[in-house]
Amino acid sequence: MAIRPILIFGDLRLEATNEAVEHFGSELHRLVDDLFETGWRAPGLGLAAPQVGVNIRLATIDLSVGTDPDARIVLANPEIVDRRGKIRIEEGCLSFPGLFTNIERPTEVRVRAQDEHGVLREMEADGLLAQAVCHELDHLDGVLLVHHLRGLKRRLFMRKVEKMRKLGVWRETA
Ligand SMILES: [Zn+2]
Repeated sequence: MAIRPILIFGDLRLEATNEAVEHFGSELHRLVDDLFETGWRAPGLGLAAPQVGVNIRLATIDLSVGTDPDARIVLANPEIVDRRGKIRIEEGCLSFPGLFTNIERPTEVRVRAQDEHGVLREMEADGLLAQAVCHELDHLDGVLLVHHLRGLKRRLFMRKVEKMRKLGVWRETA
């Protein structure tokens, strides 16, 4: 396992097209391990492959942040097949370190995805897990927190982004 640098907002790889995962071999398994390890260290609840500069449709979620092996979720080529409810909820992102904003999310989702071996699975998620699933799937479509904001809210968020940059809080580690 290895820690990989997490790309910061502004890096074009965060908004690039992500290709379907086609090979479920050792290279993918290494990447999955690295995503978990990098997420635990950050720490964060999930990480998408494009956040470490690999533009494929792969993400990991671990709400236990490394404390429970059974909590590890691998989402390869995921799609949300059903969503219910709506909630406005605070959300952050490892690619916007230190920033949080309220956005709207479904309260429950059903997600279909392959695991690291290519086995197709379906999962019901609610609460924080539903939020994490939606957040990571957004990454696979190049959708970032800021894209959920409109008008004044977006301008205020971007002002905070610029402030973080100016303060040198956000260092490109890649
Ligand atoms: Zn994120």
